[in-house]
Amino acid sequence: MNKANDDIENLIELYLDASATTPILDSVLERVVEVEKNLWGNPSSLHTYGLQASESLERSRCSIASSLNASPDEVVFTSGATESNQIVANTLLSKIKPGRIVISSVEHPSLIKSVSTLADFGWEVLYWPVDNFGTVRVDQMDDLLSKPTDLVSVVWGQSEVGTIQPIEIIGKECRKRGILFHTDATQYFSHESISWKDLPIDLLSASAHKFRGPKGVGLLLLDKRSQDRFFDLKLQANQEYGLSSGTQPVGLIAGMAKALEINSSNQLSHRKVNEEFLEESIYVANLTNKLKSHLSTIPNIQFTGHSTNRLINHISMLVLSSNNRPISSSALVRELSKRGLSASSGSACRSGFLTDSPTLTAMKIPKELRQSGLRFTLGAWNRQDDIDLIRDILIQSIQALE
Ligand code: PMP
Repeated sequence: MNKANDDIENLIELYLDASATTPILDSVLERVVEVEKNLWGNPSSLHTYGLQASESLERSRCSIASSLNASPDEVVFTSGATESNQIVANTLLSKIKPGRIVISSVEHPSLIKSVSTLADFGWEVLYWPVDNFGTVRVDQMDDLLSKPTDLVSVVWGQSEVGTIQPIEIIGKECRKRGILFHTDATQYFSHESISWKDLPIDLLSASAHKFRGPKGVGLLLLDKRSQDRFFDLKLQANQEYGLSSGTQPVGLIAGMAKALEINSSNQLSHRKVNEEFLEESIYVANLTNKLKSHLSTIPNIQFTGHSTNRLINHISMLVLSSNNRPISSSALVRELSKRGLSASSGSACRSGFLTDSPTLTAMKIPKELRQSGLRFTLGAWNRQDDIDLIRDILIQSIQALE
């Protein structure tokens, strides 16, 4: 890690909310600023400034394609995973005759909202059940996909409980049956790199700010083999192959390309631990495991999600008081914050209105516990030395609410 990064990392040591967003890397920010300063033209303009901006845009597309082992013409720039999900569920599907769509019951709200509007236009929408660990019931796949289906969408790494889904198994089955398969890889991309060409996936959504890139930019990967299906759809957007409208943010896109380059060149930044340098992803996975085993000694904490098939930086739990009463996660997050620790409830709790988490509901977590979910998601800025402190702060915060 370089010196400039160390300075930022020192300020954010008790930040345990990487699934919400990650701090932009200095080298990424430098790239954004450099491009915004020097290549500020509109990439659609035909004069020199426009051409320079458009060249930068295409360089970023090639760099991203090479980081992900995809072709440049499979990379669509969007404003983030929300827009990518909307393009899949609304832009593309609105162009074909209403049919049938299957999505997992633990999708991100941005996908659920887009898909639920399809139902108003005559689409049959099916929600694929999950087991108690949040994994889609693969034993039901045959039944669910037996009728003609236009699209299946399953989130790769679930944001609230961290469970990683059997994406390759589902993708292979969809390919066999000629069904389009989309995955929302927004959380999965935080510490994993992929080889797109080797995956049985047609469409993939991601957001740069989850892997230390800038906010407000993301991508949709669109498999070459499936593109034929979309060519005659009369897509009307002005940019990005007719899929997304608006002037592309050339600087943010260059920053996303840089962040992905760092991410997929196998976490080039290393961290010194006990005289040893560890790859960043291994460092984060080890730290997460250590913290989890430390937290497991606190009475009345129940971990949620799958114990092994999970995002490497993700700890999710239900928190109860010493007399076994559920603790409200929004109150707990505030108590933690008062003590300098930033975490998340991970559930759909907005504008002060507490609602049951749809993810915990789908996992059949008892109703009285569905507002007690707490999520710690780590990054390379977190330190081994803080593990005791994190545990102590959690204990104090629970006690403050008893
Ligand atoms: N999908 C998943 C799985 C997410 O976790 C998020 C962000 N929390 C999104 C989509 C939306 O990302 P953005 O807000 O960057 O558009």
